[in-house]
Amino acid sequence: MTHRVAIVGAGPSGFYAADGLLRDRPDLRIDLIDRLPTPFGLVRSGVAPDHQGTKAVARQFERLLAQPDVRFAGNVEIGRDLSWDELCQGYDAVIVATGMVIDRKLGVPGEELPHVWGSWKFVAWLNGHPDFRQGPDLSAVRHVAVIGNGNVALDVARLLAKSPEEMARTDIVPETGQAIAAAPLARILVIGRRGPEHASFTNNELAEMGRIGRAVALADAAALDVAAPASDPTPERLRKAKNLEILRGFAGNTPDSKPLSVHFRFHAAPIAIRPGEIELSTGTVPADLVVTCIGYRGEEPPTGEGVFTVGWAQRGPVGTIPTNRADSHAVAREVLAWLGRRDPKSGPDPMPRSTDAAGWHRIDKAEIAAGVPLGRPRVKLIDWKSLLDVAQGD
Ligand code: NAP
Repeated sequence: MTHRVAIVGAGPSGFYAADGLLRDRPDLRIDLIDRLPTPFGLVRSGVAPDHQGTKAVARQFERLLAQPDVRFAGNVEIGRDLSWDELCQGYDAVIVATGMVIDRKLGVPGEELPHVWGSWKFVAWLNGHPDFRQGPDLSAVRHVAVIGNGNVALDVARLLAKSPEEMARTDIVPETGQAIAAAPLARILVIGRRGPEHASFTNNELAEMGRIGRAVALADAAALDVAAPASDPTPERLRKAKNLEILRGFAGNTPDSKPLSVHFRFHAAPIAIRPGEIELSTGTVPADLVVTCIGYRGEEPPTGEGVFTVGWAQRGPVGTIPTNRADSHAVAREVLAWLGRRDPKSGPDPMPRSTDAAGWHRIDKAEIAAGVPLGRPRVKLIDWKSLLDVAQGD
C-alpha cells in the first residue's frame, strides 16, 4: 500500500509538484485532476500562441504523464463532480494548483462596457479555451488601449500587432487570427500608470515589440529621462536599465513608418472608459477596444489538514513558469514530510469518473493532424462537445 496524492489543477505548478514528489517517492500514486479534458493549464490557455518555445515545456509534463502511477483525470470539477471534503477523505494529501483565472478590475466607470476585455478572457479566447468562445468584435477597431506594464500587456499588444504571416506558424485559433488580420487597426497604446522605470516587462519580451513587421514601436522620449530606482536589487536595476534603453530606441523610431504603431505611454492612470475612448490622467484618447492587463485573482483556496497550495493560487499572479518549478518543489517537500508521518489510507480508488491521459492524447493527435495541412503546430479543438467526443474516442 502506498500514499495517494490528488493535485487539483493540471497546469505548470501542478505538474512541477508531481515532479517534486516523484523525485523522492517514485512509489507514490498521483492523480492530476482538471476541469478541462486537456492538461497543461496556462501553458495551453494563457501562454501566447506565438511563443511556442515556452509552450514546449509541455513535453516535460508529458514525461510525467507517462509514469505508470501518474493519472490524468480531466473534465472533473471539484464542487460539481465531487466535493473538497470527499477529495480530502479519499487521498492522503491534496495539492491545490488552481492558479488565478479571474481578471482583476480597474475600478473605473465604464469598465462593464462591451468593448472592455480582461486579459485572461482575451487570451483564453485566442488560445481556444472552450469556456471563452465569444471574443470582441474587431471589425471596426482602429484604436486599442492596453492597460498595464507587465508581460501580459506585451503579449496582448504583440498578438494584435503581428501580421497574419507572423502568426501563420502559431496555434492561435484560426478564426481569431483572421478577425485580427481583418481589423482596421491603426494604433495600440500600451498604458502604464507609473513611469517606465517601474514597468515589469522583461527585456526580451519588450525588445520583441521592436521587431514586428507591420507595426512600429514608439515611446515618448520625455518620459524616459529617468533611471532605474537605486534602491532596487541589482538584477532588477539591470532589467529596468535595459528596458529604458530599449524604450529610448523606440522613441527614436519614425511614427508613420509602418501602417500600425504600438505606442508606450507612461504616467497615465485610467479615469473612465466610454464608448470609443478612454479618459486617462493625461487626457482622453480614442479606444475602440480596451484590454486590461492588470493581474488576476482566484477563488480562495481550501485549507485543512493535508491540504497544500502551490503556484499562483499560493502566492498570487506573479512569476513565470520556471519560478513555479522551485516553489512547487519546495511545497512537495512539505507534502512528503506530512506523508512521512502518516500511514496510507485504505479504501476504494478515490479517482472520480473522468477523461484520462489516453483521451488527452486522442485530442492532441487530432489537433496536430489538423495543423499539418496549414503548417501550424496544431489547430485546437475549442468547444466542449468536440473535446469530450474526441477524448472519449467517439
Ligand atoms: P504584472 O507584471 O504584475 O503587471 C501588471 C501591471 O498592471 C503592472 O504594470 C501594474 O502597474 C498594472 N496595474 C495593476 N493595477 C492597475 C490599475 N488599477 N491601473 C493601471 N494599471 C494597473 O502582471 P502580468 O503582466 O499580469 O503578468 C503576470 C506574471 O506572468 C508576471 O510575472 C509575468 O512576468 C508573467 N508572464 C510572463 C510572460 C513571459 O515570460 N513571456 C508572459 C506573460 C506573463 P503597477 O506596477 O503600477 O502596479
